[in-house]
Amino acid sequence: MSTIRTVLITGGNRGIGYAIAEQFLAEGHRVAVTARSGSGPEGSLTVRADVTDAASIDQAFTAIEAELGPVEVVVANAGITRDTLLMRMSEEDFTSVVDTNLTGAFRVVKRASKGMLKARFGRIVLVSSVVGLYGGAGQANYSASKAGLVGLARSITRELGARGITANVVAPGFIETEMTAVLPEEQQAEYRKAIPAARFATPAEVAKVISWIASDDAAYISGAVIPVDGGLGMGH
Ligand code: NDP
Repeated sequence: MSTIRTVLITGGNRGIGYAIAEQFLAEGHRVAVTARSGSGPEGSLTVRADVTDAASIDQAFTAIEAELGPVEVVVANAGITRDTLLMRMSEEDFTSVVDTNLTGAFRVVKRASKGMLKARFGRIVLVSSVVGLYGGAGQANYSASKAGLVGLARSITRELGARGITANVVAPGFIETEMTAVLPEEQQAEYRKAIPAARFATPAEVAKVISWIASDDAAYISGAVIPVDGGLGMGH
């Protein structure tokens, strides 16, 4: 049994973020989620925040600290896609995805690091994607943003590793959420063929790995990229 922690998940109102919140709750942790709309699972504290807005993140942390104490585990999960071929990709398509997925994670972990440094303890988990290192046609913006998370986690590891803080990347493959439900059936079938496990994963399968990497048992793992992709990205 791991120590009970205060956990924050960004984008915890649906999809993988919601499942991560459920997992930490099931293990007895104090759980807060950020949401722009809706709310996290029953038993969690929902705070409004947009990861593109540093002031809203600061307010969310302040509210969580008041209710649940300093954030000890932060999962930067909020993310968007805006897929299109390079030739058609506008600068706005590129920068908006990077602003949410990469700069958004930076804003959140920067704010989280304040309390973690004071506590000399912290678990930072960045939700990347197999596409970050594997690449994806039509996903130059998304892939670049997700690859950037690896450099972010590894730099944090070098800066803060001696203070009891770990920073890791979890790289899911294809997970059954609204993000993948919008893909055409044909494309989904193609992906299934390419995945050694021959199926998509459930959000819960990602959530269990994230709760483990944040647990006491994973104290000596930092700067790692942990795939949860049924073998799709092997070697990348
Ligand atoms: P969903 O589209 O189902 O959910 C995305 C979540 O991110 C929502 O909670 C959404 O909030 C939130 N979000 C988006 N933009 C912002 C923002 N600016 N500020 C705050 N919250 C925001 O996605 P998934 O659950 O599938 O994905 C979760 C993470 O996992 C993402 O980072 C994604 O890139 C990654 N991932 C997903 C894979 C998959 O196959 N599904 C595979 C690999 C990685 P709101 O409801 O308000 O829009």
